[in-house]
Amino acid sequence: MNLIIIGAPGSGKGTQAEFIVRDFGVCHISTGNMLREAIKNGTKEGKEAEKLIAEGKLVGDDVIFNMLGKRVLQDDCKNGFLLDGVPRNLAQIDYCEKLGIDCVVYIDVDFNAIIKRLTSRKTCRDCGGTFIDSDCIDNRCPKCHGEVYQRADDTKEVIEKRLKTYTEQTAPVVDYYKNTGKLVKINGNQPIDKVYADINCALKDAQEKAKQC
Ligand SMILES: [Zn+2]
Repeated sequence: MNLIIIGAPGSGKGTQAEFIVRDFGVCHISTGNMLREAIKNGTKEGKEAEKLIAEGKLVGDDVIFNMLGKRVLQDDCKNGFLLDGVPRNLAQIDYCEKLGIDCVVYIDVDFNAIIKRLTSRKTCRDCGGTFIDSDCIDNRCPKCHGEVYQRADDTKEVIEKRLKTYTEQTAPVVDYYKNTGKLVKINGNQPIDKVYADINCALKDAQEKAKQC
């Protein structure tokens, strides 16, 4: 089964992706991780991506398609894959459709709740853990008692900007898959286990449908 997962920053997408991989045996392909790894390993695509990023440019679709095309052929993708980070534009949708997509999991969350949660997050200078503001007494880490601080990218302005970019990139993708009937919209404003219960149920349905075809 080939899947796509879409969720805003702070929607818990990473955790849900882990659960999906565990239960459905698909391979998690995050284009962000794939790029970072290619750069680290100095592959042809990695070098190209590194150059573009250094110039402040976006990594082109051709580089991403090249890497994806090779990645989905690897052995660990024989039960299917879970794409994370693509598609983000119409050309990428076309490419993903060629790979064959069975279902798109869209975790819908209330942006105000995300902003509230992420802006109340504190990071410990000593152990690196992240905690809710209200758990840190006198600006101290509840675990190791080190000093906690707010990360520069946990401010309201930065989070709002990231959410705006996310909405611009995902809206056309969500629309496209809604029209093809492959989109499963999940209420992400629930406890983690309830969100996953909904995803699990939807994916089992999709699995049945995929078998019938
Ligand atoms: Zn600490």
